[in-house]
Amino acid sequence: MIIVFKKDATKNEINDLIKRVKKLGLKAMVSRGEERTIVGVIGPEDIVRLHPLDVLPGVDKVMPVLAPYKLVSREFKKENSIIKIREGIEIGSEKIAIIAGPCSIESESQIDEIAGKIKEGGAGILRGGAFKPRSSPYTFQGLGEEGLKMLKAVSDKFNIPTATEVMDTRDVDLVAKYTDILQIGARNMQNFNLLKEVGQTKKPIILKRGLSATIKELLMSAEYILSEGNFNVILCERGIRTFEEFTRNTLDLSAVPSIKMLSHLPVIVDPSHACGKWGLVAPLSKAAVACGTDGLLLEVHSNPKEALSDGSQQLLPENFNNLVGELRSVAKAVGRQI
Ligand code: PEP
Ligand code: MN
Repeated sequence: MIIVFKKDATKNEINDLIKRVKKLGLKAMVSRGEERTIVGVIGPEDIVRLHPLDVLPGVDKVMPVLAPYKLVSREFKKENSIIKIREGIEIGSEKIAIIAGPCSIESESQIDEIAGKIKEGGAGILRGGAFKPRSSPYTFQGLGEEGLKMLKAVSDKFNIPTATEVMDTRDVDLVAKYTDILQIGARNMQNFNLLKEVGQTKKPIILKRGLSATIKELLMSAEYILSEGNFNVILCERGIRTFEEFTRNTLDLSAVPSIKMLSHLPVIVDPSHACGKWGLVAPLSKAAVACGTDGLLLEVHSNPKEALSDGSQQLLPENFNNLVGELRSVAKAVGRQI
């Protein structure tokens, strides 16, 4: 249920309604748009039906939200959401965010070298995993807190914000201490307790689409985070499982304009995990920019052959630099910039 206020509604009228909603045992989520304020009411709809809210002063209309996701939907918020990462760095605006770095943080010198190179090459955000969701328990699992410390040190040295994955509810506070953006990996897209936990923080969240998740399921997972009060969610298309096995996954680029149609949240694309082959990353990145992505998540490694994870899909820094150059003209062609 969405309450749309009249353009001239006063602060007191809005606050009175919020108090009333809370008294009924429902949640009120406020979205202050440029023109009007909207309040999303979350909870059993029959309670709202028994206690009509459209009679309250300042209220223009009460609208049911037909989609199963409410706060995430375009019906709730017409304008695109822009997620602020740090002063001057945001995701969802005209500028396309380039998030780059190794699959895993392997050592301080490794992450230091790559951070310097990707920043020089045009990345605005550094990525790197310290907690790695590996298919085999016998492969490298990440450096844990030691890795997070390395990421933070390099972030401070190069003055670049970071994104890193959190896999466990017990680690949310720990990971949040060291990074600007928390990433929920594809395998945890439906770990609802983890979604609720990161929803309690104020950190921007990159929510990756599950391996076999529909767009609707991705949006429902995002709803978990927003319903806890954290509206700073960035959705990520990273390829889905299909019958094709030449590529690691199948990049579903139609997800980008589809999500934009259904939701106000920004959407980024991870071509590295989608295809699993470094030689396919450049063409897929260009296609993603052409079809409206708000950002790219790119794996970059100085020595991919020796990488402790995902060696086959990581770009060399020089290939990354060339790609960013080429992407600038694609971005320009679709009215965006990098
Ligand atoms: C990652 O980005 O490090 C990662 C593991 O990706 P995904 O969750 O999409 O597989
Ligand atoms: Mn990886």
